[in-house]
Amino acid sequence: MQLEDVRGIVTGAASGLGYHFALELVRAGARVAAGDLNDEGLARLAAETRGLPGKLVTHTLDVTQEASIEAFLEAVAAPLEGLNTLVNNAGILRDGLLVKEEDGWVRKLPVAQWKRVIDVNLTGPFLVAREVAARMVEARVAEGVIVNISSVTRAGNPGQSNYAAAKAGLDADTRTWALELAPHRIRVGGIAPGVIDTPILERITPEAMEALRAAIPLGRIGRPHEVWLALKFIIECEFFSGRTVEVDGGASA
Ligand code: NAD
Repeated sequence: MQLEDVRGIVTGAASGLGYHFALELVRAGARVAAGDLNDEGLARLAAETRGLPGKLVTHTLDVTQEASIEAFLEAVAAPLEGLNTLVNNAGILRDGLLVKEEDGWVRKLPVAQWKRVIDVNLTGPFLVAREVAARMVEARVAEGVIVNISSVTRAGNPGQSNYAAAKAGLDADTRTWALELAPHRIRVGGIAPGVIDTPILERITPEAMEALRAAIPLGRIGRPHEVWLALKFIIECEFFSGRTVEVDGGASA
């Protein structure tokens, strides 16, 4: 698919990677519907895309709520003029060890902390993909693309039981949906970024950041634009489906 033919949704577009994806797509002439809980960030994105070749429409979106997804899709359908692309990007971190010893006590990972991350990072992408895929199938799209933003953490990482499980699950669904949706001419791909410089890293301590950096063979953290290049490839390469591309400075090698 050519970038200027994209009629796409980007979730979590008010910040970080999603913001950069939406901006680059509009710069390339695409029509983009940007959704997020953070309306301020969406307004910033709208201002930054003004005057670019494509078109941006923004609307509040909570990927964990079916009613919010319905309202979002209703609101953006007309300005998008068709729907052929979804970037399932919204995600959160709520790190914590399964159990940890503190002041003579053994503390356990609270179930609410587990559930919130599963809700946003796994159930959310499922709900949005389901609604978008249903619309694409109904419209008999000539070509559709769904891209799931996973993480190298899908292979497991201390302190991230919830996040690793969600991202591994999402990766499994990239393969599952690619097989299910291929007869409908919809491709499904994934991207597993390593450590990328976005606001999500504000939750990581300086010591943990240093340890992360030290584990990257290229010796630095990544930039949002380097993940955008993988997204661009997945959208443009019409023979790509069912796989997750790692963009991690060699960390998972
Ligand atoms: P970010 O915090 O800058 O952006 C995430 C966005 O998602 C925010 O704007 C937030 O408001 C939005 N969001 C959160 N909950 C939402 C909900 N329920 N509904 C709608 N929007 C919601 O983080 P980022 O680094 O840009 O992360 C983007 C994606 O990339 C996430 O899925 C993240 O897990 C993944 N990722 C990031 C890194 C990294 O190092 N930055 C590495 C691997 C994977």
